[in-house]
Amino acid sequence: MKPKYIFVTGGVVSSLGKGIISSSLACLLKARGYRVTIQKFDPYINIDPGTLNPYEHGECYVTVDGHEADLDLGHYERFTNVHTTKANNVTTGRIYQNVINKERRGDYLGKTVQIIPHVTDEIKRNVMLLGKTGDFDFIITEIGGVVGDIESLPFLEAVRQIRWEMSEDSCCVHLTYVPYLHAAKELKTKPTQHSVKQLQEVGIQPDVLVLRTEKDIPSDMCAKIARFCNVAPDAVVQSADAPTIYQVPMNMHAQHLDEIVLRALGVESVREPDMAPWKKFLRHIADANETVKIGLVGKYVELQDAYKSINEALFQAATYNDRKLDLVYIHSERLTENNVQEKLSEMDGVIIAPGFGQRGIEGKFVALKWCREHDIPTFGICLGMQCMVIEFARNVLGLADANSTEMDPSTPHNVIDLMEDQKLITSMGGTMRLGAYDCVLRKGSRAAEAYGAEKVSERHRHRFEFNHNYRDIYEQAGMKCVGENPETKLVEVVEIPEKRWYIGTQYHPEYSSTVLSPNPIFLDFIKAAVRYHNEKSENSDK
Ligand code: GLN
Repeated sequence: MKPKYIFVTGGVVSSLGKGIISSSLACLLKARGYRVTIQKFDPYINIDPGTLNPYEHGECYVTVDGHEADLDLGHYERFTNVHTTKANNVTTGRIYQNVINKERRGDYLGKTVQIIPHVTDEIKRNVMLLGKTGDFDFIITEIGGVVGDIESLPFLEAVRQIRWEMSEDSCCVHLTYVPYLHAAKELKTKPTQHSVKQLQEVGIQPDVLVLRTEKDIPSDMCAKIARFCNVAPDAVVQSADAPTIYQVPMNMHAQHLDEIVLRALGVESVREPDMAPWKKFLRHIADANETVKIGLVGKYVELQDAYKSINEALFQAATYNDRKLDLVYIHSERLTENNVQEKLSEMDGVIIAPGFGQRGIEGKFVALKWCREHDIPTFGICLGMQCMVIEFARNVLGLADANSTEMDPSTPHNVIDLMEDQKLITSMGGTMRLGAYDCVLRKGSRAAEAYGAEKVSERHRHRFEFNHNYRDIYEQAGMKCVGENPETKLVEVVEIPEKRWYIGTQYHPEYSSTVLSPNPIFLDFIKAAVRYHNEKSENSDK
């Protein structure tokens, strides 16, 4: 089958969940046996989101091939179980960089370089890249931003041209918002009509409309929208708020979104999607009555998107352990010796979050000391693992000034230090140790047991590492370096075996956790938290 291109655009407001709709559609097509990939085109000028503060667009996701990517790629992987790559996330910055590089090389042979055709051609080339690999039947392209934004115009122009050139092999799904006005007690369709008109003004006719809504939209209203927007009456689908994002594929399928899209692309729908494993996961969600309470200690806790993949990995792990997740965000900047007991004592497990820089770091040490001394299941991720190492040095090894050279370049005990190959790097973008690397786990370690394997591959995003000179004294004092990179010997996992569950990973296991393949170390962490919870309630019953 020739690859088919599905474009997903958004109107009215941002944050409607284009990523979730694209992922849900991909999930359904995959369950029909097709090979699907999703790519995101972001209209900002940064080359990639790696240099962005999480307050801007939330977490930076990392692909297996080491690309720092938009967090929507995390949804794509969680919903489809298909790896994304650098080719799945392209920004205006990258498009312009390519165009300017070509101009400098002389590729344009003396022509005036312009937005049309040169920038739009570069966008088109990138849109078609994954289709040319022969690996996919469907390429879903999510266009970031909202129709009407100045900065998304070149992307929409490229979409218009592709639609024109390959009309039968492409279609457009437009996501809009139908607000409910409480004072008037009415749902309003006008913003949708206007946003479709804006799309039509740039020459794109949507084939399918997905209406985000907080209230059920009556069928006559959907029919009215269809009539005003030149869309088939049954191609108007509504997406009401769902109790969990993982319900959305089923909601979309119930309204035949997958069939409508196949029809728009001239593909015969031969069988129903096999959603049995997905439904099993949803059943776990529905059946979970008891709760597991996890504290997440970090400095971006005001912003739920900053730790998106950790939240989702925890949710998946809790669900497969038949527990509801009660995730409590604990601001590391506000955590002190005086309030740590009050903040952490109800937790069944604690996560120490990744991050960069000094802000909030002391709170992480306070949390770790308390967790270690009270033997709470504790999981440190990346900076969280580095903090575990530093806290252990300060309070167990007696190295009071121990630190990471990231926080204190002149520390006398640099137990965490800049990686050797980072020392000459001056440029910030895309220069960390990024992407998936192998890690060999020590036989018999808790980490190896958790994975049920002695070799794993996980994704990284860091510049600093455990300082090998201190390895022996850690081992002797009870913090074991149980995971290392087979080539560089870089320490990837530490644990204190005598504790209930005290593990730190230099890598980010959250990036590889998906609905149908939850990450084993998260599963094991939640299992330990549940066990600890049960122990606590047994003791209090006595
Ligand atoms: N700041 C630390 C480093 O660069 C940890 C990074 C992270 O937590 N992602 O090594």
